[in-house]
Amino acid sequence: MKEKNTTSLLTVGVFLGFVFGFFFSGMIGAAGELSAQRYLFYKMYRLAASVFQWPLFKWMAICVITVVVLFILSKALEKANKTVVTVMAGCLVFFPAVWAVNHYWLTYTKFHPVSLAVDLGLFVFIAFFIWILGKVFGKGRWESLLHRLNEKRTIKRAAVVAVILLLLLNAGVYVVGTSGGAKGPNIVYIVIDTLRYDSLGCYGYHRDTSPNIDRLAGEGVVFKRAYSSAPWTKPSVASLFSGLSPNIHRAVNARGAVPEAVPLTAEILKNDGYRTFFFSGKNNFIGKRFHFHQGFDHYLNASLKARKLTDRVLSVLEENRGGRFFAYVHYMDAHLPYGSNGFNFFFTPEKKDSPFVPGGFRHKFVKRKAAAGKLSGEDKAYIKSMYDGQVRYVDKHIERIVSWLKEKGIFDNTLVVVTADHGEEFWDHGNFEHGHSLYDELIRVPLFFAGNGLTHEVVERPVRLIDILPTVLEMAGIKAHGYRLEGIELFDKSNDKKPVPPVFVMNTLYGPEKYALIRGSRKLIVNTADMYPGKDEVIGYSSQDPVEFYDLSGDPGETENLADTETGGETLAGLQRMLTEFIEREPTFKSKQVKLDKKTKDQLKTLGYL
Ligand SMILES: [Zn+2]
Repeated sequence: MKEKNTTSLLTVGVFLGFVFGFFFSGMIGAAGELSAQRYLFYKMYRLAASVFQWPLFKWMAICVITVVVLFILSKALEKANKTVVTVMAGCLVFFPAVWAVNHYWLTYTKFHPVSLAVDLGLFVFIAFFIWILGKVFGKGRWESLLHRLNEKRTIKRAAVVAVILLLLLNAGVYVVGTSGGAKGPNIVYIVIDTLRYDSLGCYGYHRDTSPNIDRLAGEGVVFKRAYSSAPWTKPSVASLFSGLSPNIHRAVNARGAVPEAVPLTAEILKNDGYRTFFFSGKNNFIGKRFHFHQGFDHYLNASLKARKLTDRVLSVLEENRGGRFFAYVHYMDAHLPYGSNGFNFFFTPEKKDSPFVPGGFRHKFVKRKAAAGKLSGEDKAYIKSMYDGQVRYVDKHIERIVSWLKEKGIFDNTLVVVTADHGEEFWDHGNFEHGHSLYDELIRVPLFFAGNGLTHEVVERPVRLIDILPTVLEMAGIKAHGYRLEGIELFDKSNDKKPVPPVFVMNTLYGPEKYALIRGSRKLIVNTADMYPGKDEVIGYSSQDPVEFYDLSGDPGETENLADTETGGETLAGLQRMLTEFIEREPTFKSKQVKLDKKTKDQLKTLGYL
């Protein structure tokens, strides 16, 4: 009789656990995520498996817990102190229920009055429910219920199938999730937020801002004319991660997020067996909210200066240097407000009476003051000196990463990519900061590849940050399945014979939308009147010309607009056609962004583009 009881409990427990577990383990959410991420479509089986790993484990755990709970209940019922049983059963149901309700449905904090009221309601309801059950079943009746359930063959069979299925699924997911292993080099991206290309020694700057970066560049392949896809962080890093232009990946404007379906560098590398690490000195535009964490095993986006951020990088890499890794390191120190550190006054003596204090910078205040003509040339030079000091500060800590790689003997097997998401304007075109225009001081960035056996070379042709992903995948021996990359492989010699692809840049953070196209030394900028929701006004100067056309070879500072002159005519029309093609491409991915509506199109038509 006792043995039969045990079998009954086991069968019924597994059956109930299997059903509960399906709903409460997150399996349904995981299936939704798999479909949103399109991992099967891209043949990213390792990532597909990793989506289910945790929910499947929870599903199995729920089965085990249900069996244990049934055993305890049944023991208690044998000794039958009904009050004790009711309270125990109530607690067993109450606590998981409260947890599930708070976790899945309520958005309030745990001790918010609404949460507490819901908890109380649940407690009363469950206590009442258990009390009724106690009345209905009593002793004896509970056991006979178990027997009756156990005698149903379907339940027995279902329980056996459930156990086999769960074991197989768990084993399968484990095997697929850990099979193979990356064969390419380790990959380290070092991105210095807001770093102008011409603020580095290796790009000709007169100040010694970057002795260590320069030395590393001297060992690698330097791209003298590299362009980001946008003049601010979010669309630019999304392009770096996806190899796609902003109007394709659609992480544009203040509200746009990277669609789950866009395959990102970390996802592609993780699927190949890399361990993936993200470190940022805190920039919310590349936060989880905008889905930049996709594919990263370790994601850190915290207010850390270069020194502490580098400490974290090195300690995580030290723990993980056994296998292949991809580390993304994003320094925020050259971005306003230039947090206080030993390098603020490296290139200028501190002015005690200046309103520009490290960490206390308010960019709107500075912009307004400058726009009103109340900022002296001396003030502007002081601010640029402070910026240069921050570049020198970051340079010092980048050296620590390079030294670590060399000390551990893995530098030659590590591809190091150094770049920036965008530059910074110091009144080159009458404004300050970034995100408001598409002039070279904002979109031209440093870019070089070092390590992995590369030797020094300087490339003069224009390249784009969207070219980095195809180049890295080629070096790691990874083939793209089912997804398109817009960029080209930068080390593929056969590309040298082909025409250099044009550089397409778009999406300002402030003011109406702007587009730019660069072909050779010619640059076209189109200033539309389309203001998207969530965008701020431009404080300070922004060009009112609908079309700007520059010859960068003779006029690198973009001071003379050739749009209306005879000489620019033919090339200008060609660039306009090309730009229109880029703008009109069908978006591959869905986004919550406002589409190019009729008004926008009409506007562009009046300017002669669509
Ligand atoms: Zn940035």
